[in-house]
Amino acid sequence: MPTFPFTEADPIQYPGPPPKTSQVVIVGGGIVGVTTALFLAARNISVTLLEKGRVAAEQSSRNWGWIRKQGRDADELPIVIEACRLWRQLADECGEDIGLNQTGVTYLANADKDMAKFEEFMRIATTHGLDTRLLDAHETAKLITGMSRKFAGAMTTPSDMRAEPWLAVPALARLAVRKGAKIVENCAARALDIAAGRIKGVWTEAGYIETSTVLVAGGAWSSLFLARHGVSIPQLSVRVTVAATEPLPEIYAGAAADDHIAFRRRQDGGYTLAAGGSHLLYLGPDAFRRATKYIPALRDNLFGTRYFPFAPSGYPDGWSTPRDWAPDSESPFERMRVLNPAPEPAKLRSIERNFKQLFPQFDKARLKVGWGGMIDAMPDVVPVVDLVRAVGGLFVATGMCGHGFGIGPGMGRVVSDMIQGNDTGHDLSRFRLSRFYDGSPVRLGPAL
Ligand SMILES: Cc1cc2nc3c(=O)[nH]c(=O)nc-3n(C[C@H](O)[C@H](O)[C@H](O)COP(=O)(O)OP(=O)(O)OC[C@H]3O[C@@H](n4cnc5c(N)ncnc54)[C@H](O)[C@@H]3O)c2cc1C
Repeated sequence: MPTFPFTEADPIQYPGPPPKTSQVVIVGGGIVGVTTALFLAARNISVTLLEKGRVAAEQSSRNWGWIRKQGRDADELPIVIEACRLWRQLADECGEDIGLNQTGVTYLANADKDMAKFEEFMRIATTHGLDTRLLDAHETAKLITGMSRKFAGAMTTPSDMRAEPWLAVPALARLAVRKGAKIVENCAARALDIAAGRIKGVWTEAGYIETSTVLVAGGAWSSLFLARHGVSIPQLSVRVTVAATEPLPEIYAGAAADDHIAFRRRQDGGYTLAAGGSHLLYLGPDAFRRATKYIPALRDNLFGTRYFPFAPSGYPDGWSTPRDWAPDSESPFERMRVLNPAPEPAKLRSIERNFKQLFPQFDKARLKVGWGGMIDAMPDVVPVVDLVRAVGGLFVATGMCGHGFGIGPGMGRVVSDMIQGNDTGHDLSRFRLSRFYDGSPVRLGPAL
């Protein structure tokens, strides 16, 4: 039985070996890789998903479990609207309880300036026919019971959902396998074999796979993997701390946050808690190289980022992490099977304190577990979902910027059609890789 958070100590569910050939190879067993594999397999395309550690062991099981349309970038919205429909369909197909519930998402306003930000999103919400609405102070107090503070108001989207990530993504992986996908855990993709500008195959730690098509969906590792092949993605990763309480009486069935505390009702009756808008950036060589691209994002949230001068050894942007390696020798990916940062003790204390201050009736509540996660970030807070023009057959879907769980099944469907050369049904120009190099100004996605 896997423990939480998942680590390399958990049993391998998909031992391999990898096949000798596959139409498509996916690097990364998070929600993006898993759902892409699922949709490709459903079209009878032979697809092999390589996961260096365990399925969903990194961001895709460690997240808060919010499935939200609220606060999304306007170009992500049509995809997340589709994702919400897919979540329901896939939850049925899984035949397992993944904790999917339509219980709403609410952002609390401490001051009128927060309400002004919410009003900006209301314009986008109206265009897309969302059920998002603004609440006044009285309605807010009625929605979430027992709060010790009076909020200026709130923005809420009742149709937003929640699910338990550590149940959902492994269940989706099982569904993908039932549809015909091959998953191999404990198997790092070391390098691409590229000849005459086209993908020929993938070197893995367990042998070579001949293929014409590769999707890199490696979360925080994508940039390191691709940089070795001359494909540059200005991706960094930041550490965040999360905690879960023991079961408590229900004060709100959905997920809510203000600047200080984020909380979500869990299937087990507890709450998943985190500090709103605070993360730690480990500085490594890439952080320095890419600093200028992040200036707009840093200016926008000046105090949200804290810095630590040394990215730990073995991390994607570690000072000693190799940037080059031979395909027949150990790569950084298998050296760190699971990126498993420790939660910050001070953050755990402030999360507990802030939750109890807001809900004094939970004064005796205890945190049952705390964990850390590395969020893969992009300079404009929206992902890269594109084909790589310089290398025929190479696709990338990464940099989901802390909101890739909810949109995951939508991205998986979109990327599977992109790989097949079909119309994806959405305008993906906002997510093109070239935006960082063609002189386009940085257009920040919402940090809501
Ligand atoms: C604490 C936290 C809270 C969050 N809260 C939310 C939320 O409430 N709602 C929301 O929508 N999103 C949330 N997110 C973001 C969301 O979890 C991520 O955007 C999403 O899970 C990213 O999925 P992914 O498949 O792109 O990457 P990941 O889940 O990181 O998966 C990438 C996988 O690729 C594997 N890999 C990398 N390189 C290789 C290689 N060379 N060979 C083989 N395997 C490789 C890794 O081991 C990893 O398992 C949160 C994230 C965190 C960390």
